[in-house]
Amino acid sequence: MTKKEQVNQERMEAYLSLPSFLTIVSSSVEVFKKETIGYLIGIKGEDKWMVEYAIPYQTAESSYAHASIDENRVTRINDILAHVSQGMELIGDFHSHTVFGDSPATVVPSNTDLMSTAPGELNIICAVNFKKRTVKWYENRRGILVGTIGEYRIEIGGYYVAEACIGRQYERVAIKCPVATGIHEE
Ligand SMILES: [Zn+2]
Repeated sequence: MTKKEQVNQERMEAYLSLPSFLTIVSSSVEVFKKETIGYLIGIKGEDKWMVEYAIPYQTAESSYAHASIDENRVTRINDILAHVSQGMELIGDFHSHTVFGDSPATVVPSNTDLMSTAPGELNIICAVNFKKRTVKWYENRRGILVGTIGEYRIEIGGYYVAEACIGRQYERVAIKCPVATGIHEE
């Protein structure tokens, strides 16, 4: 194994607080089969993020294609946080993926997603599909948070681009939410 491969095995991680987890899941389910989009607010460490809040962007143009953000809105959020937060900042964004015809929703970023991804930011995709069976919340081997709620199956995946580049290069970020995966002890 080369040194580069060893480094790549150290996957970056993002920890979801209960409020951010609930917001991402509920806002994604509410607009199913449209897409939701919003901001992630929290703390960025060297190779991990602590996501404290997820804030859906109310007036985003929701469509099957992709929802887009108003740049002024981002500036305003950062202005507010600069004055009130305890080290918290806007650390990225989230959006949902939904079924399209016979194609199931996945947490894989689309080309459009990658083109609009800001380098260094955490990106979370919440994929919503109809469930086939109920599962408890767990983190799979690819670092994707999986669970069911109501009639839906939810998958939450993260990705990140280190720097702007042409092509589809991105790194996975493992999504962790101990409050969701740990509450089903039996
Ligand atoms: Zn997308």
